Amino acid sequence: MPFIITDPCIETKDTACVDVCPVDCIHPRKDEPEFAQATMLYIHPEECIDCGACVPACPVAAIYESTDATPSHQKDLIEANAVYRNGDADAMAQAEAIVKAHVAAQPALMAIPAAERQAAHASH
Ligand code: SF4
Ligand code: SF4
Repeated sequence: MPFIITDPCIETKDTACVDVCPVDCIHPRKDEPEFAQATMLYIHPEECIDCGACVPACPVAAIYESTDATPSHQKDLIEANAVYRNGDADAMAQAEAIVKAHVAAQPALMAIPAAERQAAHASH
């Protein structure tokens, strides 16, 4: 079961998770050219070793331990994590399109500051 990054990452994107990931499976990193254009970061589902180090590192609780643990209003982002690949323009566009649709579909939740959004999702 891979770990999943969700929408509180969108305005935050501070890469604290990247710094603690032992297998470098979270992208894009700050030193990768894709970083500027990526709306959020993504965990490669096959490279993640489920160590859990990224969860407490995230200042906005954006990371869930499994697809099952991901809240209902964030489940569309499971696919965004799954399809994103650095250096693959089509895969990046697919992931970003999912994120864009996610943001557009939930204006009320996305209006909540990133640091408070995890709690708002939990109550849905
Ligand atoms: S659970 Fe571990 S391996 Fe997976 S993304 Fe988080 S830090 Fe990286
Ligand atoms: S630590 Fe959290 S907010 Fe920061 S980049 Fe990682 S998932 Fe996004």
